[in-house]
Amino acid sequence: MRRLFISFSGGETSAFMAQWLLANRADHYDEIVCLFANTGQENEATLRFVQQCDEAFGLNVVWLEAVVQPKGKGCTFKVVNHETASRNGEPFEAVIARYGIPNKSYPHCTRELKLNPMLAYLKSIGWQPGSYDTAIGIRADEIDRMSARAKQKRLIYPLISHVEMTKPRINHWWQRQPFRLQLKGYEGNCKWCWKKSLRKHLTLLNEHPDWYEFPERMEREYPLAGHNLDGNARVFFREGRSTEDLRAMAAAGGFAPARDDAQVYEDQLTLDLDSSNGCSESCEIDFEDAA
Ligand code: SF4
Repeated sequence: MRRLFISFSGGETSAFMAQWLLANRADHYDEIVCLFANTGQENEATLRFVQQCDEAFGLNVVWLEAVVQPKGKGCTFKVVNHETASRNGEPFEAVIARYGIPNKSYPHCTRELKLNPMLAYLKSIGWQPGSYDTAIGIRADEIDRMSARAKQKRLIYPLISHVEMTKPRINHWWQRQPFRLQLKGYEGNCKWCWKKSLRKHLTLLNEHPDWYEFPERMEREYPLAGHNLDGNARVFFREGRSTEDLRAMAAAGGFAPARDDAQVYEDQLTLDLDSSNGCSESCEIDFEDAA
């Protein structure tokens, strides 16, 4: 049985990959499963885009949300849909209550909100680790993020090995489609994702101050939750900054706002170079240790 698992993040790159695989590789597989894990802190535009892609490209997306389990067991899943998906951070808050606030030192949110629910879903339909290919939406301009153990772990990179795509090429393709993800490049993933650069946070805090109410409340209500090695209150952001610290920095001003890399095309590479912030900002699911 030849099986393919597509992890759909809700962004334009992984949406391109999913539709490309369905259009060009469906006859290589007996079964294809496309999963989207909702954290409850996605933008409404992301949820709408996932639904639009599903309808336009026939992806049969299965929407999952994390379900926290007792100690010693990773998150499992529940199946939701566009209408029933959490919009107020419910899965994220449950993970924080159990594991604590995620940050650079405790980077568990992708694992518990996305990886473990996806793996639990695949197991529930009889897909054991190692019995399927996993398609990863890493582009040709991100080639340094490929796993050295890709073959052994059955990870495939269609946007590098089959159809060479860069961010400007992805943007160009979407520009010609009847719909796009209605977000600026720096607005994607969880709205306030702690992996975003300081410039993006300060820009977002000026443009959407309400997006930071969730991390602010989490820092207030769960400062000591989870396995807390040093016993200090945890905060989300780099350099030990809290949401309150970021709000103060944004209010002080004096910074150039972030640029929108969803509108960078191949004749504007200076913009692309300026806005590329490397792998440390991506919500990359580590399938290397999972398969
Ligand atoms: S890494 Fe960022 S985008 Fe991914 S789950 Fe954590 S907060 Fe959300």
